[in-house]
Amino acid sequence: MKIAVMTSPGEIVFQENEIPSFGNTEVLVKIKAVGLCTWEQKYYKGIPNSYPFVGGHEISGIVEGVGLGVSQSLKKGDHVVVASLTRCGECYFCRRGLDNLCENTGSDSNPNGSWGPGGFSEYFVAKGYEVYKISSDIDLITGTMAEPLACVIRSIDRSRIEFGDTAVVLGGGVMGMLHLLLAKQRGAVVIVSEPDEARRKKALSLGADYAVDPINIDLPEFVKKHTKGHGAEAVFFTAGGKNAINGGIKSLVQNGTMVIYGGTGADDILNIDPKLFHYDEIYLTGVTKHTKDTFRRAADLISSESLALKDLISEEYPFENIVEAFDRAGAMDTFRVIVKM
Ligand SMILES: [Zn+2]
Ligand SMILES: [Zn+2]
Repeated sequence: MKIAVMTSPGEIVFQENEIPSFGNTEVLVKIKAVGLCTWEQKYYKGIPNSYPFVGGHEISGIVEGVGLGVSQSLKKGDHVVVASLTRCGECYFCRRGLDNLCENTGSDSNPNGSWGPGGFSEYFVAKGYEVYKISSDIDLITGTMAEPLACVIRSIDRSRIEFGDTAVVLGGGVMGMLHLLLAKQRGAVVIVSEPDEARRKKALSLGADYAVDPINIDLPEFVKKHTKGHGAEAVFFTAGGKNAINGGIKSLVQNGTMVIYGGTGADDILNIDPKLFHYDEIYLTGVTKHTKDTFRRAADLISSESLALKDLISEEYPFENIVEAFDRAGAMDTFRVIVKM
């Protein structure tokens, strides 16, 4: 089988390996499609400098073999999505139901001495608990959205939004759009704040009630004007730095929730008046990764075909052209870029 190994920034070489054998509690998956997440894009740019690295954690594929000790009902040919970052099941957080914070999470090393989740490969051995079956009617390209969707489900859960609430999404990239789709499904009025015009248009086409340019309007003022002067019940930060976060906090209604979903820079330090917590009872929280529970729900949501996930996949490349795919993945005019095996 072919495996794409990142050997230095911008450098990917293909290696030929044996198809791996799988253990009693493991599943051999024939990978069909993998998304290029921001995390892998960072390695491609050399920001965390740790090679040889085999990326690929947004994995969807077909079951090729199932260990006898795998408990769930899976058979050869089933369509599956894979959560490739392991969870130990034994640490404090796993036992508390917060396996996204697992102290021993990581990636099994690959056979050739490289490390990483390992999805940029034609086959993948997953633990039984990492494999989630999806409907065989779903094309496996869409299956790659399971992992990001599972992370965003957690973010929406934390916000506690209800029917009729107003949600503001800061940033109109893939993660912003997933927040938009899920918040609409929960019955919220959604305002997307995004400087790029094409992305604002996309947000509107995906169901945003408003898409505004935070450079040219006063976001808190706009939100208050459209919420009878109250503000939004939830604000999700997916991109934009501390100015965006501060504008988001000012857009909250009393008792509203701000969820920090996206990454921030070293200078994005907040200076917050504690009175906002005392008198206004605002909640300020954040999320990282997905839990087994949100992954299970993401897989079922994908199977239900109720979200326009395909609209977020902008380009597909054959596995052989993974370098070209990486060169396009970070561009402003793309959402998710995937490779197909
Ligand atoms: Zn991801
Ligand atoms: Zn753990």
